[in-house]
Amino acid sequence: MINLIGALYRRCWHYLLPAQCMWCSLPLAEPKKQLCVYCQQALPELPYQLCHCNLLWLPAVARGLKRAKFDRLLCLAHYQLPYQHWIPHWKYYADLAAGQLLQQQMCHLLIRCKANNMQMPQALTYVPLHWRKQQQRGFNQAQLLAEALGQQLQIPVLALFSKEASHSQRGLNRRQRLHNLRHSFKLKPLPEPLPSHVALVDDVITTGATANALTRLLRRAGVCTVSVWTLTVTPAPGYSA
Ligand SMILES: [Zn+2]
Repeated sequence: MINLIGALYRRCWHYLLPAQCMWCSLPLAEPKKQLCVYCQQALPELPYQLCHCNLLWLPAVARGLKRAKFDRLLCLAHYQLPYQHWIPHWKYYADLAAGQLLQQQMCHLLIRCKANNMQMPQALTYVPLHWRKQQQRGFNQAQLLAEALGQQLQIPVLALFSKEASHSQRGLNRRQRLHNLRHSFKLKPLPEPLPSHVALVDDVITTGATANALTRLLRRAGVCTVSVWTLTVTPAPGYSA
C-alpha cells in the first residue's frame, strides 16, 4: 500500500513538474527515465553483434590497446560525447545523476548481451583507488559501477585488490613505468579460491595497462577467463567514427 501511494505521488509530481532529459533538457515522458527517446536512440554504440560482444575482435578497438592480457572486453562506446561529458561529471564533480545514468546504460547493455548468450562471469571485481584518493573523492566510481551491475545481474562483487601510492613516473622509460604500475596493485588475501571467470569493472579503458596488470594478478590466483567491462574505450589512433 505504501509503495502504491509512493508511486502515485511520484507520478503526480512528474506531471506537475516533469524531469528533464539529462542531455537535451526536453521534458521526459516517463518519470523513471533520465534521457528522452531521441537522445537514447542517438547514443553512440559499438557493433556488439559483429564481435559477439567481445570488442577485442574489433581492430578499431584492439589497435588502441597494448597487447591485451585479458580475454574479453565490453564497453558502451568509444570515449566520445555524451560519455565524455557525463564520466568526468560523475568522477570529479560527484554528479550522482550522471553516475546513475551511466550505470543504467551499462546494465542495459549487459542484459542485451546476456540475452545474446554472452558468457557471463561468476564474480565481478573492480579497479581500486588508492585510499587517499578515494577519501578525497568520497567514492570509487569503478566500485559503484560494479555494485550496480552485480545487483542487476545477480553476480557477487568481490573487493580483490588494493592500490598503493604510485611512485612518480617522471623521468622513467616505458618499461620502468609499466613495472611501477604493476607493483602498485596487490591482491588481498583470499578466503576461498576464485571462480574460473571474473569480470574486472572500471569506468574507462585507455591503453589497457591497468587492466593487464590486474589480469596478471587474477591469473596467478587461478582465474582462467578475465572479462573487462568499462563504460568507454579510447579509440585507436587514426580511428574516425
Ligand atoms: Zn534528450
